[in-house]
Amino acid sequence: MQDFWWRSLWSLFPIGLLCLALSPSTGGHTALFLFIAWLLILLVSHLRHLRNLLRWLKKPDLSALPGASGVWEDAFSELYHELRRQSRSQIQLTSALERLQQAAGALPDGVVVLNAADQIEWCNSKAEHQLGLNLTKDEGQPIAYLVRQSEFASYLEDFNYGEPIKLRASRIPDVSLELQLVPFGEYQKLLICRDITHLEKIETMRRDFIADVSHELRTPLTVVVGFLETLKDINGAVPEGLRHYFDLMETQASRMRTLVDDLLVLSQLESSANPTQEQEIDMNGMLNALLDEANGLSGGKHHIALGEVDTGLNLHGSVEELRSAFGNLVSNAIRYTPEQGHIWIHWQKKGNEAAFSVQDSGIGIEPEHIPRLTERFYRVDRSRSRETGGTGLGLSIVKHILTRHQARLEIQSEFGKGSTFSAVFPAARVRSGN
Ligand code: ADP
Repeated sequence: MQDFWWRSLWSLFPIGLLCLALSPSTGGHTALFLFIAWLLILLVSHLRHLRNLLRWLKKPDLSALPGASGVWEDAFSELYHELRRQSRSQIQLTSALERLQQAAGALPDGVVVLNAADQIEWCNSKAEHQLGLNLTKDEGQPIAYLVRQSEFASYLEDFNYGEPIKLRASRIPDVSLELQLVPFGEYQKLLICRDITHLEKIETMRRDFIADVSHELRTPLTVVVGFLETLKDINGAVPEGLRHYFDLMETQASRMRTLVDDLLVLSQLESSANPTQEQEIDMNGMLNALLDEANGLSGGKHHIALGEVDTGLNLHGSVEELRSAFGNLVSNAIRYTPEQGHIWIHWQKKGNEAAFSVQDSGIGIEPEHIPRLTERFYRVDRSRSRETGGTGLGLSIVKHILTRHQARLEIQSEFGKGSTFSAVFPAARVRSGN
């Protein structure tokens, strides 16, 4: 700063001294006039530099920085270096951004960047193709105007982006897409879009294969079971010593038939997303039928009763599917509760929702098994399941049926004390009857 003052004012010293030296011969006024004239020259020079700077700032061009002298030369040089630094970091930022866009463009999945108002800020070419977007035209447009399927609109509004959704691509025939929203930054979102047509085809092939094999096995098994039963019924056809083996064959063949039946049910449930023939279900009638069925299955070995029941509370859905799901929970309670144990069937409101529950005082389940119970063929105790005629598919079928009804399965259990399996239905499925 000292240097600044020195460089700005040094020229005043010689002219001041000259004026002082001249003043005795030319008179004080003339010397003062000379000094003021010099000050004016300096002022004009500063103003000229300032005008050059202002002109240049209107159209800054690093190669055409105005020439200057004195402190202005320093000021212009500082300005030049600062602008060089800025331009270098801008070039670096631009190239980083370009690289990022190139990387996002090369992704095998579609990517759309949405702002806080769900308007498109940017998307890669894959997303343009999959969702029928055109970045040049659609930038700033709300994504909901361009992806018009109702499932996507509710997904966007739900703010529950943990799981992706599946959609049919509206602009490309026979293409299935999986869409997932990922929130980032301040209320921004990434929409990731994946072509799952190939995966869906493999899944359909797997489903069809299981359904075909099950169909093919069903007829021969029915014949085998039928012949075994007939042979056992014909007097003397089965020698007494072999009867035990015939019983075993019959049990195993029946078990296989039940397994094949369950596999067929599962593949039917998987082949369509919605329940068939929905209607208002008379829950009183359903509960009484389940109670009768339970008593029949138990053969009087358990104490079975209706527990807390909200009469007049009905359900909208498929009678056939829900009867099978509820029946499965009841039959499990009987199979996993020792003789003389208690079983209660409840049907009641839970806030806006309604729950069908089967509570038992049976063997209970250790906590680590609970999350896996609805997996196919998952059994806590394989031999017990087999002994009681289980296939390991029951809860998997229950879960499928409940999902088709937008309901969920809740399991509470205490090992050695008993379990409660609840099917919880959303308000939209619940009807308040008379
Ligand atoms: P399974 O045909 O073997 O019963 P499920 O899918 O119906 O197959 O049930 C899976 C497993 O969950 C069963 O093998 C059993 O270990 C456990 N389970 C189901 N219901 C109960 C219950 N009420 N009490 C104790 N364990 C149960």
